[in-house]
Amino acid sequence: MKVTVLGSGTSQGVPVIACPCNVCASDNPKDKRLRSSIMIETGETTIVVDAGPDFRQQMLREKVTKLDAILITHTHKDHIAGLDDVRSFNFLTRKPMKVFARSADQMDIRKEFSYAFTDNPYPGVPEFEMIDLLEKPFQVGDIQIIPFEVKHMMLKVLGFRFGDFAYITDANVIPEKSIEKLKGVKVLVIDALRKKKHLSHFNLEEAILVAQRLGVRQTYFTHISHLMGEFDDVQKELPEGMMLAWDGLSFEVNQPDWDTHTQDI
Ligand SMILES: [Zn+2]
Ligand SMILES: [Zn+2]
Ligand SMILES: [Zn+2]
Repeated sequence: MKVTVLGSGTSQGVPVIACPCNVCASDNPKDKRLRSSIMIETGETTIVVDAGPDFRQQMLREKVTKLDAILITHTHKDHIAGLDDVRSFNFLTRKPMKVFARSADQMDIRKEFSYAFTDNPYPGVPEFEMIDLLEKPFQVGDIQIIPFEVKHMMLKVLGFRFGDFAYITDANVIPEKSIEKLKGVKVLVIDALRKKKHLSHFNLEEAILVAQRLGVRQTYFTHISHLMGEFDDVQKELPEGMMLAWDGLSFEVNQPDWDTHTQDI
């Protein structure tokens, strides 16, 4: 199973519009960060987690020609603004796009993209098949997914475990029951906004502590702000087995051999 980091930037992306700082002016491609999202692929199934404002650019960059589903962590704009662009996949497959979201998140999406949910929609609007995301394991094609809850200040956000890999974006607390669900994870992509403390995101130090507590082999930090510093400078300070993620980073992870297969969705 292959994981690709589609975007590793915070809500404003990096560079930030009109910012003259060193990071925003950097020529290093690893300092250019689209809004946070990942893609998971097996030979059979392709899914993405979130579809932020850079979804279109991310699909083009990675030459994605088939997308089976989108999982939504939460409905902050940097995670859903690109949902309108599923139209290209709708045209291709002549089917609605499967969007897995919690019921409250579905209400937000219906409000945000109300034109797609009217009784008699304008031709060419995006088509969504909204599917309830509950906090229990489910399957899309041949990908097994374990959702778990994390806290983004007062907001409950979902993280996802895929085999020995887990993805946590937009969090500053991981409840104990979710720590349990993360046992045995070997590769982790986790939110680390910047070095300074923040109200609703882990900072770098806190994210390092979470990774150490979980005992993961390889950690990549994501949802990074320009305030984190330049990639090359920050990278030098990180413990072994930890890196800042970058856009386009990809790696292989393992899915366990499941003895019982839940029904395909
Ligand atoms: Zn975000
Ligand atoms: Zn800047
Ligand atoms: Zn958020």
